Amino acid sequence: MTANAIPGNVSGGSGPKATPLPRVSPRVPAGTVRIFDTTLRDGEQAPGAGLTAAEKLEVARQLIRLNVDVIEAGFPAASPGDFEAVQRIAREAKGGVAVAALARCRDGDPQRAVEAIRVAERPHLHVFIATSDIHLKHKLRISRDEALEAARHWVRYGRQALGADAEIEFSAEDASRTDLDFLMQVYEAVVEAGATTVNIPDTVGYAIPAEFGGLVGRVVALVGRDATVSVHCHNDLGLATANTLAAIQNGARQVEVTINGLGERAGNASLEEVVMAMRTRPTQFPDLVSRVQTEQITAASRLVSYLTGFPVQPNKAIVGANAFAHESGIHQDGMLKNPLTYEIMTPQSVGLAGSHLTIGKLSGRRGLQGKLKELGHEVDGDALDAIYREAIALADAKKEVTDADLLALVEQRTSEVPQSVELTGWSVTSSHGGQATGTVSLTVMGEERAAESLGNGPVNALFTAADQAVEPVLGWHPVLTEYQIRAVSGGEDAQGQVLVRCRRSVDEGPGALAVSGHGLSTNIIEASLEAYLVAMNKLHGAEIGLVADAFVAPATAPTLP
Ligand SMILES: [Zn+2]
Repeated sequence: MTANAIPGNVSGGSGPKATPLPRVSPRVPAGTVRIFDTTLRDGEQAPGAGLTAAEKLEVARQLIRLNVDVIEAGFPAASPGDFEAVQRIAREAKGGVAVAALARCRDGDPQRAVEAIRVAERPHLHVFIATSDIHLKHKLRISRDEALEAARHWVRYGRQALGADAEIEFSAEDASRTDLDFLMQVYEAVVEAGATTVNIPDTVGYAIPAEFGGLVGRVVALVGRDATVSVHCHNDLGLATANTLAAIQNGARQVEVTINGLGERAGNASLEEVVMAMRTRPTQFPDLVSRVQTEQITAASRLVSYLTGFPVQPNKAIVGANAFAHESGIHQDGMLKNPLTYEIMTPQSVGLAGSHLTIGKLSGRRGLQGKLKELGHEVDGDALDAIYREAIALADAKKEVTDADLLALVEQRTSEVPQSVELTGWSVTSSHGGQATGTVSLTVMGEERAAESLGNGPVNALFTAADQAVEPVLGWHPVLTEYQIRAVSGGEDAQGQVLVRCRRSVDEGPGALAVSGHGLSTNIIEASLEAYLVAMNKLHGAEIGLVADAFVAPATAPTLP
């Protein structure tokens, strides 16, 4: 970072005050940085992260609780599933949050994007085209003039289609490797054509903070009076957050970020890091705040990790399991005397409750509701009753019901699907050195089915038996493409949480519908079967139109900023 990094200046109350930052960006309230979350668009482009429309909606609801300013909901031209997910989020998002859709500057894309977000209270169209010579020459095979013309044309289209109040954002893909004079020419032209936000993507994660801050400063000086300057940083060199903060210090008033830093390759700048850096070091960002409800960060991080199946590394800043753990004796001693000795942020400020209540002390539904609220989840009505029953049952199955157990119960309910296939029973035998034998009985759309199969292990035997039981009725069986298992908490009696990813046996190739399924039980075999059935039901639900699913991006998917 720049100068003034004074050790010990943790609360922001002391230390030298930096020069006030330039007042720019007409559409962003003075004193704020607009948080543009792209977890559902760039984050979802991470290989294997594919979310269903229902899951995307669930993430969007948490982003609204987090109070982000803009939700980039997807890339509607990518697939019918993506279109529908964006439109559903656009319909549901109320209370001031804007919903953005991405589009390439080419016929068809911006029209689909406009159609998807037109219903939003605050539509935000995001069009982009590459501007670096390397992208123009090798990817788009067009000249600089042609790129400039396309940019101008589609910005103008967006402005006309959505009206004067809509936010029209233009991104110059690979801006950090674009010829500076040409880049400035493009930004000036698109603002003249009606863009209200200009975005500077460091698409390939190539920039270094001081250099990137300098670039941002030049764009702010050129168009900052008429448009909001935004940045979109990738983490290929581990600098996404640093580059984003340097951009803010140089006048950027919108930052494009993702929960857990999810995103293509090494990911994007992480929302939690950027927001907590601003909150923890206010003197470095004079008179600037974000509107993010930081107490919702942990819940958001867990939800995104759960639904995408991407674990958060334990030492990840802000949201890693060890981020607030103090293990060394010297640190613990200091912490006991005064938490400020080693703690620059409190765990409560990011929504880590830190207490370990046992279920007995929850004293009924109200107590459970309060506890869940502390953990970042608003649950009531039938959902609360169901979680309460499950928590009581769990208390019989294991000694202590921890926060992690409660969160796992809440999460398990987020992926509820129609029950075409229901498990009625299973058994398995498995021993050292031999094959496993599994039997499964199910009802498949009301019809009783059972099958027995051999396998190289208990899970394989049961999944194969389930395949044989459902295939005559459904006409296909799920094909397992990924399997993960983890213990929800410590202890030998912990619950196992299983994630599977599956496609249908009749679908081939990279464009096939892929879904995830989760299972949760103190019996890991039961959790595995449960996850497999959730995936099976989602695939069937998508087939008969009950579950609108986002399809995984086809192999020919365009590269995006
Ligand atoms: Zn990106």
